[in-house]
Amino acid sequence: MTAVREPRIVVIGAGIAGITTAYVLRRAGFEDITVLEKGSDVGGVWHWNRYPGLTCDIPSQGYQFGFALKPDWRHVWARGTEIQQYLSDVVDRLELAPLIELNTDVTEARWDEQQAQWTVTTAGGSRYVADFLVCATGLLHHPFIPDIPGLADFTGTVVHSARWDDDLNTAGARIAVIGTGSTGVQIVSALQPGAASIAHYARSTQWMLWAPMSLRQLPGIAGVLKQFPALHKSAYDGLLGWAAGVIADVSIRPSWRRRAVQAYARLSLRLQVRDTALRAKLTPDYEPLCKRQVVSGTYYRAIQADNADLVTESITSVTATGIRTADGSHRDTDIIVLATGFHAHNYMRPMQVIGRDGLTLDDAWAKGPRAYRMTAIPGFPNLFTVLGPNSPINTIGPQFAAELTARYIALWIARFRDGTVSTVAVTDGATTQFNDDVESAMKPTVWNTGCNSWYLTDANTIDLWPYDLATLVSMLDRPDERHFHLS
Ligand code: NAP
Repeated sequence: MTAVREPRIVVIGAGIAGITTAYVLRRAGFEDITVLEKGSDVGGVWHWNRYPGLTCDIPSQGYQFGFALKPDWRHVWARGTEIQQYLSDVVDRLELAPLIELNTDVTEARWDEQQAQWTVTTAGGSRYVADFLVCATGLLHHPFIPDIPGLADFTGTVVHSARWDDDLNTAGARIAVIGTGSTGVQIVSALQPGAASIAHYARSTQWMLWAPMSLRQLPGIAGVLKQFPALHKSAYDGLLGWAAGVIADVSIRPSWRRRAVQAYARLSLRLQVRDTALRAKLTPDYEPLCKRQVVSGTYYRAIQADNADLVTESITSVTATGIRTADGSHRDTDIIVLATGFHAHNYMRPMQVIGRDGLTLDDAWAKGPRAYRMTAIPGFPNLFTVLGPNSPINTIGPQFAAELTARYIALWIARFRDGTVSTVAVTDGATTQFNDDVESAMKPTVWNTGCNSWYLTDANTIDLWPYDLATLVSMLDRPDERHFHLS
């Protein structure tokens, strides 16, 4: 089909999802693409997170774009700074930078039925008009600040892990770290050696899989991969498919493989922590893999150091000088690190998104985030999400899922370009069916074995992908017209 009109596309977010979307849409031949990014740089979570010890617990050769492979990762598990540099380099190398407007915080997106277009307004008062709006806003980017009595009156320093102050001097300080997710574990491991004391406040403890995360990539690998890019791509595809298969297999339904990984988590604790009292304190009361699995080669060593203390009594208040716990103890503290996670189900909110007939996203999602195949929302025509609700971020990898979704979106936008479709809006029926199926498929997953994690929404649904890679590929292979209202 020949192009009859050039679609105007606005993408919100320049993290992994937004960079992928910009790349895929431009490759599909679209020319009018604007990417709006609230941060001062691209990278999303890798731009916002700069805390000490930040390391990706997914091996770097699998945690990268299939369309921009990097042969020469320094470590098997890359540091945050190297990933951020990689993302920035990809944007430059693929000449995506001219599409991206940094420091541009979108406050509202409003659908105009008459004109069949979106108007996007930013905090600075600028307006953008688009035929298609793609929300690539990520999910772990609104820091969760716990409501602890007295926190505002603390006279020392309080810092959230995702808003780290590069000038903060932690050496010789009495440090409190609240939160035992992947972030808290990495921060405790990194700060313990230089701290006067470090107290790790654990409302609930986590299982940890031991891995040698400071391992360097083997010498010679980079040279070979650089020389043979086709080999690199096949190795990447193979690694991705294999890892997705293993992780889906242990997560989605009970099996001996799941039990083997769980046994490894228990063994990691048993072999590294000999003190039975401490081991008992460190033993969670739920199954390994139920929460987002923590991987660490250093935490158990750090928490057993003389200057470290695992505090499992609950925090009752923060005083001007420290933290008080339910057993009446008070620990003097200079720095409180909030490794307390994110409002994980906000997605594009607090941005106001107003769709057909004045429907707001807050109303549409009053019972929790809900989309069709992670990408389309009833009542919001010509709007798609990339890494939206139920994305397989923990099993298949954000880069792959984002690319697949962006390709799917490109197929719809191509139909607008060739004049066969002007508006596309997913039906409520198809969305309900998808979500009902997801809910049933969640039942035997390990995430549903009785723990409290950020995977759970307020409506008690699990915001993850309960299927394998092949299902993901087939669901986003091509649009199914029966599931959409078209005009
Ligand atoms: P998280 O997993 O949501 O953990 C938040 C922690 O804060 C939990 O331990 C929680 O306790 C605790 N908490 C919250 N409110 C509290 C309160 N009022 N009092 C005491 N404790 C409180 O957050 P995260 O560690 O930042 O990790 C979020 C996600 O980011 C990870 O799961 C992962 O997907 C990603 N991440 C990835 C990497 C990587 O290497 N790839 C690194 C860091 C983060 P409860 O458990 O009791 O609720």
